[in-house]
Amino acid sequence: YNAPASAPFTLTPIGHVESDYPDKFGIPRQPGLAPAAEASLILVPPYDDPLAVRGLDAFSHIWVSFIFHQSPARWTPLVRPPRLGGNQKVGVFASRSTHRPNRLGLSLVKLAGIDTRGGVRLKLEGCDLVSGTPVVDIKPYLPWAEAHPEASAGFAPEAPPLLQVSFSQQALDTLSARTDSATLHTLITQILGQDPRPAYKRDEESERVYGVRLRNVDVKFCAVQNDEATTLNVVAIE
Ligand code: SAM
Repeated sequence: YNAPASAPFTLTPIGHVESDYPDKFGIPRQPGLAPAAEASLILVPPYDDPLAVRGLDAFSHIWVSFIFHQSPARWTPLVRPPRLGGNQKVGVFASRSTHRPNRLGLSLVKLAGIDTRGGVRLKLEGCDLVSGTPVVDIKPYLPWAEAHPEASAGFAPEAPPLLQVSFSQQALDTLSARTDSATLHTLITQILGQDPRPAYKRDEESERVYGVRLRNVDVKFCAVQNDEATTLNVVAIE
C-alpha cells in the first residue's frame, strides 16, 4: 500500500504556443470553434528532439496539456461559467474554467504538420490558447477510445449559437490590402460569430464599440439589432 500522493510535483514546460491570439479576450471557449485560427507549438530543449515526435505526424489530432499562465493561481470551489450567463455557479471540476487548482488546461486540436528543421515546431489549427501559453505535454488523440458523440454535456449540451457577422467597407478595404486577407476575414468571422462580448456588458441598443486583437490587428466591432437577430458589424480594422 502506497500512501496517496500529496507531495507537490513540479512541471517543466516542454514548449510554448505562438497563436493568432495576442490576448485572452475574444478567444473561443473551446478548441475547434474557430478552425481558421493558426498556431505553432514550439518545443524547447531538451524536448525539441525530432525523435520525441517520431510517428506523431500520422495522427490528425492531438491533446495539448498546458498551463493557464495568465490566470491567477487562486481558485474557488464554485465558478460562474459564461455559458450560464455569468450568474449561475457550478463546481470548478464541473467546468472548464481557467481559474482552477494547478491551472492545468487541456485542448484537443488539429495537427496540421510538423517541422523538424532546426528544432520541432507543430502546426496547429483551431486552438483556443493565447500566444505564449506554456505547454507541458502532448498526446495523440485516439478516436476509437476517446470520441463519445452520445455523451451528455451538462450545462453545455451543444456548440454555442453563431451570430451573423458583417464588415464595413472601410474594414473590407483594410483587409484587401493585406497578404493574409482571406484567412483573416475567415478568422474574424469565426471569432465574432462566437460573440466575444462580455455577458455582463452586452447592450444591444448601445453604440458601444468593442475591440478584439487578432494576429497583428485590432478589430473594432459593434452590435446591430435587427428584429430578433443580432449582427456584429466590423467597423474598422486597425
Ligand atoms: N480547452 C481548454 C480546457 O478545457 O482546458 C481551455 C478552455 S478555457 C474555457 C478557454 C479560454 O481560456 C479561452 O477563451 C481564453 O480566454 C483562455 N485562455 C487561453 N489561454 C490561456 C492562458 N494561457 N492563460 C489563461 N487563460 C487562457
